[in-house]
Amino acid sequence: MNGDCSVSKFTFTFVFMLTLLCITEKSGKEVMSKGSSGMEVILASLENSRDVQTTLNILYILSELLTVGRGRRMGVFVSKGGTGILFQILTSASKELPPSEELMLQLHSLLAKVGPKDRKFGVKARLSGALNVTISLIKQNLQNAKLLLPCLQVLRVYSANSVNAISLGKNGVVELMFKIIAPYSKKNTSLLKVALDALGALLKSKTNARRAVDGSHVPALLALYLDWHRNDARHRHMLIRKGLLVCLRNITNIKLGRKAFIEADGMRILYNTSTECLPVRTLDPLINTSSLIMRKCFPKNRLPVPTIKSAFHYQLPHVLPVGPVAQLYSQPPGVDDVVDDSDDNEETEAETDTDNEEDEKAHRTLNDDIETDLNKLHPTKSPGRPFEELRVYERFFLELSEDFQGYNFEGSKGASSTPSSGSLSSSSSSARSTRPIIVPTAQALSPKHMATPDGLKGVKQEGSPVSATRHIQSPLLLGDIATRRVGGGGSDCGSEGAEDEGGEGAVLEVPDTALLLPLHDPDLYVEMVKGTRSVPQYAEVAYPDYFGHVAPTFKEPHLERVYGVQRSKIFQDIERLIHPNDILDKVVYDLDIPRVVPFTFNSQFESVLNTQWSIQYEYDLVLNSDINSNHYHQWFYLEVSGMRVGTTYRFNIINCEKSNSQFNYGMQVLMYSVQEAISGRPRWVRTGTDICYYKNHFARSSIAAGGQKGKSYFTLTFSTTFSHKDDVCYFAYHYPYTYSTLKMHLAKLEALRTPHIYLRQDVLCETLGGNICPLLTITAMPESNSNDHICQFRNRPLIFLSARVHPGETNASWVMKGTLEFLMGTSPLAASLREAYIFKIVPMLNPDGVINGNHRCSLSGEDLNRQWQNPNPELHPTIYHTKSLLQYLAHIQRAPLVFCDYHGHSRKKNVFMYGCSVKETVWQSNISATSSDLHEDLGYRTLPKILSQIAPAFSMASCSFVVERSKEATARVVVWREIGVQRSYTMESTLCGCDQGKYKGLQIGTRELEEMGAQFCVALLRLKRLTGLRNHQHLLDLESDIIGTHSPTTYVMEEDEPSFLEAIDYSAESDNEDAEPENEHASNECFHLSLPEFNHHEL
Ligand SMILES: [Zn+2]
Repeated sequence: MNGDCSVSKFTFTFVFMLTLLCITEKSGKEVMSKGSSGMEVILASLENSRDVQTTLNILYILSELLTVGRGRRMGVFVSKGGTGILFQILTSASKELPPSEELMLQLHSLLAKVGPKDRKFGVKARLSGALNVTISLIKQNLQNAKLLLPCLQVLRVYSANSVNAISLGKNGVVELMFKIIAPYSKKNTSLLKVALDALGALLKSKTNARRAVDGSHVPALLALYLDWHRNDARHRHMLIRKGLLVCLRNITNIKLGRKAFIEADGMRILYNTSTECLPVRTLDPLINTSSLIMRKCFPKNRLPVPTIKSAFHYQLPHVLPVGPVAQLYSQPPGVDDVVDDSDDNEETEAETDTDNEEDEKAHRTLNDDIETDLNKLHPTKSPGRPFEELRVYERFFLELSEDFQGYNFEGSKGASSTPSSGSLSSSSSSARSTRPIIVPTAQALSPKHMATPDGLKGVKQEGSPVSATRHIQSPLLLGDIATRRVGGGGSDCGSEGAEDEGGEGAVLEVPDTALLLPLHDPDLYVEMVKGTRSVPQYAEVAYPDYFGHVAPTFKEPHLERVYGVQRSKIFQDIERLIHPNDILDKVVYDLDIPRVVPFTFNSQFESVLNTQWSIQYEYDLVLNSDINSNHYHQWFYLEVSGMRVGTTYRFNIINCEKSNSQFNYGMQVLMYSVQEAISGRPRWVRTGTDICYYKNHFARSSIAAGGQKGKSYFTLTFSTTFSHKDDVCYFAYHYPYTYSTLKMHLAKLEALRTPHIYLRQDVLCETLGGNICPLLTITAMPESNSNDHICQFRNRPLIFLSARVHPGETNASWVMKGTLEFLMGTSPLAASLREAYIFKIVPMLNPDGVINGNHRCSLSGEDLNRQWQNPNPELHPTIYHTKSLLQYLAHIQRAPLVFCDYHGHSRKKNVFMYGCSVKETVWQSNISATSSDLHEDLGYRTLPKILSQIAPAFSMASCSFVVERSKEATARVVVWREIGVQRSYTMESTLCGCDQGKYKGLQIGTRELEEMGAQFCVALLRLKRLTGLRNHQHLLDLESDIIGTHSPTTYVMEEDEPSFLEAIDYSAESDNEDAEPENEHASNECFHLSLPEFNHHEL
């Protein structure tokens, strides 16, 4: 219909209205009163019409009007009370016996159009009594398709309201719908479609779903689905087939429904029909819904391990009477057994109307966590501990009292003259040789191998083919390295050593990376490892940690996701369930039986899965929990050997915990090949195809989950091939960075010290596990010991940095390495920076967690970044003493200018900061505050703003300055609130990559992470210049100008990605996702594996 026509209709309407008015009882004057619109006139006429024909005429007109001008006119109609009038006419007309069929038809047709546009439609219908009118019409007209169709259309809208659905169910409407739906037929398909929609909506109510189960309709629905699937060969009625699946989907939301589905052989039926649909892309909605139902009904299992508690136990000095550890060890045996404990209690079904449940829920979760207590939002320096107690920390701040008397500034040469106290590296501070390390091999090399030393000569041969493979000893035992090196360590002539040693037939060369990795030294690494204390008493060294990692020079873009990858993985899981005999289910490695079964991919240990897609080698891996915990696993670091070249291997890590991961958005795992390394390419590379992260059918029981509803686990799956024979490879969640690596780096940094650098390494404290927690002080030496110079030296502002409180966030350590190397560097910027500030750095806040391969906790089984409010000196020594350092500084009026704790973020891209702002928190919440409450210096924005200008990986848009309640015990919030540091930050680095800036589309590597750490330093120098300027009155606004914007950043929630690329509805257990407590970096998901040789984080 074109525009002209619609105009003329409208004109006609008015003419008609004027005529009509003459026959209504009310006076025209009243109806046409001031402000009335045409719609009001029509509605008034309708309301007052007393004979069927007039009513019908008006309905025809309305129908035309609303069809043509849909959006706006419909809005006017609804707002002027049109819906109510229609219901009123409907109920009064129903009292006529028999009611006019034509009137009922017109009313329902119009209501079917209005319904979806009126948010209160369901409530209005119920209150007016219209529900029963429609139902009885349906019952009486089952054979009258003409009238039945609009009635069902209206019923469909009624049923969308949850209270209506319950009430309609009580009146037998569910059974009624089951009478209407029918086997395949070409007739009345639109009727059937509408009936299925209505039924689907009704079945969302648990009571109704139960009715359907009790009436044995689950097998009936499956039979109907199969019938339509077989007969609808040309796929003309996909919507009907989808409608049937939606009914099944909603019924299987209740436990009884899932049981009935399994009993009716639903898994097999849906699996078979879906695989038949796979070749037709347009049938994807059917496959997706089927897959969803199958996943829901897939019986929940406990993990295939004896217990989900950590395989290692560490006896704590004392266990707090309440807390996670006490809870864990008081759990009854058999606690891990999973039962379907989903709540089917229909009495709890809401009997109140919520028109926009989704919106409200989203709004609630968005704002729930924002701190709204204004008292808590104001940084109020807490008195902390009495100064008498804090005075002992004076010894960590010698630079504040040092007078350098007797220190010879003129003739100072060499590092030994720098003041040093409690050096960490007394035994290892001497410079190490850079000669290649000789590693013994288990077997002698064949003459052929010795004759072709290709690729042995260093890392410059990037990309050269490996023509020789060498036998690699695995595992690399610490004892072996020590003893054999004595015999073979004579060579110190650089990379030529290989050929010389080759002649002896029992040694293998380590790539000479000294030039590329100035801070790496394999000898020193082994030295450091010997002093590291782990709970499992690891006695092995992982090759990658020993050899070192040289960042590749090629780009590693995000992996493009294969269409339907999640679906195909899920189907393979279902296939395994349906055909259990096809799986050779063998345990190939168990942490509890060390050394009994070697973890190799020998044929005798293969787990062969015969799917219809391919025959493949597939391994399920279960990650070990953090020590003294039964969860927190995401970090992994594992070794594999004995692989066949060219064969595809699939790995499934089946007990991941977080509900989503960057593995769904382009992130790959990291692999390190020892053969590659000894061929001159020692490096971690991003690897893996068919990567997908999805919810699986394993769960932990509600008791094991600490009283919450049983939680499902997630699978990370990836496939890969291996290109070298006799290789030993490693997989890791992210670039490993061990505690021993840190100690090695610190020792090497010591060697970089020049007479102008003031570097002191102190032992802050000992950890629970008996390891030391290093504290570094870096600044510039004073120019002389004159009063002025000493004064300038002592009065430099402090910068306090920390990292790696969460062991799984290895990226934080790489950023810290970048910071430390820059600070110790020779560049003029580094020199200025040292002259500008005193740096206090705790590079690893959780050594024990790192050493023992934890993902998140310390040995106390707790997240240390939730202990800052009240750290326990025995259980959380590193936090207790770090906080004390800050309290000491606050007491002597030397609180740091900047505090920053480095973290890693697994669900977001880029590098970004979290800070604390009263104003931005208030803006994001609904609390009212006076302007004085909101008086706040914008200085907290300067540093991130500078970073966004100079650091390519940094994104201002991802920053947030909102104070959340769940974060009130984190370093960032406590240092801000109690110590009074306005610039108190968490800096989060992505585990995945960037979606903006120079590195857009690329996965992050150690080079970029280290660069970030260096740029952080450069930014501090700019900050110094700006804060220096601010002492001048007229330049007060300069900082704000630089900041550029006064508007708040968005309140950033956990993820900036869509929740799932492939629509997956977990409605049966939707509570699971929401209840999850989020972390400082929302979900830093790392897991660590249960295998000692896997967990080779440390010895
Ligand atoms: Zn973290």
